[in-house]
Amino acid sequence: MSANSSIEWTDATWNPIRGCTKVSPGCKHCYAQTFAERFRGVPGHPYEQGFDLRLVPEKLLDPFKWKSSRKVFVNSMSDLFQAGVSSDYIRKVVSVMVEADWHVYQVLTKRSERMRTMLADDLLFAGAKDNIWWGVSVEDKKHGLPRIEHLQASSARVKFLSVEPLLEDLGEIDLSGIHWVIVGGESGPGARALDASWVRRILRQCRRYDVPFFFKPWGGVNKGKAGRLLDGRTYDEYPAMPTIALNRDLHQTPSRTEELVRIAI
Ligand code: SF4
Repeated sequence: MSANSSIEWTDATWNPIRGCTKVSPGCKHCYAQTFAERFRGVPGHPYEQGFDLRLVPEKLLDPFKWKSSRKVFVNSMSDLFQAGVSSDYIRKVVSVMVEADWHVYQVLTKRSERMRTMLADDLLFAGAKDNIWWGVSVEDKKHGLPRIEHLQASSARVKFLSVEPLLEDLGEIDLSGIHWVIVGGESGPGARALDASWVRRILRQCRRYDVPFFFKPWGGVNKGKAGRLLDGRTYDEYPAMPTIALNRDLHQTPSRTEELVRIAI
């Protein structure tokens, strides 16, 4: 787990899986792939195998080591629900989130159908937890809008959208049952432009549905220069934080699940 993340909407990242494959236009300039491939072939580096899919069971128990509550982006360098990850391993990752419940976990996927299916079955024990926020990526209408429907149809208690990189005007979208919307542009070489009118339209719909709105940087070749102001102000809104994450005793003892997971790996 990385204690300090530069991602604006989280505090830390946790990667019990590394690597992924591209599935839709939002993946075109995947920052995780660019980062990981820089280290392919470097002996002993965590990304010695580049962006190839790899389970990292030695990272499974990291959240238990963090005694104070944090917002944790799960698999910032991967996608938990990709086909190459077994349901059994996904269950282990989610079991840690359920037991180390003084953190808030932000699970973001482009494989929304598998997430919905598993939340109705193997992950039934976790969907209702308010310290696990389940999200889908939405970059355009064709790929993103069906993911919203899958999320809405799931049993997840806290649902969010990461509308990033936003590649076109999404039109009027149904935000029923959605608890948080993040919007941002694309950064780095070849970044595709973000139009302010597309962002304002999503903001208006968030206001209509009473959904918290978080605006990331505009993106572009120089992310820092572009900033995070939308019409003169920043938007840093979040869903309500679960009480357990706010009041947790900071001195945890290893739970039964921690011990079971430890035995299993
Ligand atoms: S799903 Fe996410 S991690 Fe995987 S290739 Fe696409 S952008 Fe990268």
